[in-house]
Amino acid sequence: MTAHGVDRPGTSLTDRFARTIAHLGPIPLAQYMAEANAHYYAHRDPLGVAGDFITAPEISQMFGEMLGGWLADIALRAGAANGCYVELGAGRGTLARDALRVMKGAGLTQPVHLVEGSPVLRKAQGELLAGYAPTFHDSVDSLPEDRPLLILANEFFDALPVRQLIRTSEGWREMVVGMAGGQFVPVPGDRPMDAAVPDARRDAPEHTIIEVCPAASAIMHELAGRIAKQGGAMLAVDYGHLQSFTGSSLQAVRAHRKTDPFTDPGEADLTAHVDFAALAQVAQMAGCRIDGMETQGEFLLALGIAHRAAALARANADAAKPVGEALDRLVSPQRMGALFKVLALAAHDWPQGAGFAPAVQ
Ligand code: SAH
Repeated sequence: MTAHGVDRPGTSLTDRFARTIAHLGPIPLAQYMAEANAHYYAHRDPLGVAGDFITAPEISQMFGEMLGGWLADIALRAGAANGCYVELGAGRGTLARDALRVMKGAGLTQPVHLVEGSPVLRKAQGELLAGYAPTFHDSVDSLPEDRPLLILANEFFDALPVRQLIRTSEGWREMVVGMAGGQFVPVPGDRPMDAAVPDARRDAPEHTIIEVCPAASAIMHELAGRIAKQGGAMLAVDYGHLQSFTGSSLQAVRAHRKTDPFTDPGEADLTAHVDFAALAQVAQMAGCRIDGMETQGEFLLALGIAHRAAALARANADAAKPVGEALDRLVSPQRMGALFKVLALAAHDWPQGAGFAPAVQ
């Protein structure tokens, strides 16, 4: 066994991909990413110093407290005490624990529904949140239909598979993964894909890459449609762009370092930047109001995270230094503060969410 709990890292998935490519030809990049990440998350808890990466809720309780406070505030002002807490990709359950503690303090106790693909992380979530008896879901489709949804997603959308279209000298093609010299390599596929490219971008220069995430759009469409109908609100936090972009943002991280996404599939976390503009457009089309798109740093500061840090430091002198360091890590533009963005949306008949300038209709 290795530290990651699999016998020979990558062997089975590497062999499976190699066999598929040998028999059927190159596979779409989105399929490669989907299967690699399903394997990756199914076999480990990747979070923390000993794992591959650290996320905001694992840095400090303040992150979950701010997000939980945001949900409690909007739900109470909406007069909705009958909502349920929903989290997408809940990791170790830390964000839910911190958010639910604040919501409970505000008088909101509600059923907890977690959309989680990984059996290993489901177990961790079940243990940490035992007092809430969470219900697990394979997908958003089975979430309750009879009550408002109060939804959080941190570093969930970036793990969903992206599709890439590349402009070649012969027109647009989909990026596929083939093999050369025993290595996986991304290459333009054979089939013309011009019809899949929006008119405005069709004449982009050769080598331009357009990255889209159909899975993220589909999930956002379903959730925003539910919120519009059932009531509710959602915060999605991830690293990515407020405006749509061109180029590949696919990356792999293992043991806190960037590695090649095409080496050892299933043994590193594959992510791509989230296109927040595209997600916001989908949410609006599905009937929701966008309450804001902002950097994580500005959002957390607007919600008062610096005051919370000061209170924690006052309460425990030994905590002052680590709390100050965690605050800086979460909000400083040189660290997570600017790279990570927050998208907030709500039902039209719900009040405006806190922390943003007046709503974009
Ligand atoms: N939100 C947590 C964990 C982020 S890691 C935190 O901030 O610490 C990504 C999470 O999304 C993991 O829990 C992973 O198992 C889950 N995940 C990734 N792809 C998924 C998918 N397609 N369906 C359900 N869960 C998924």
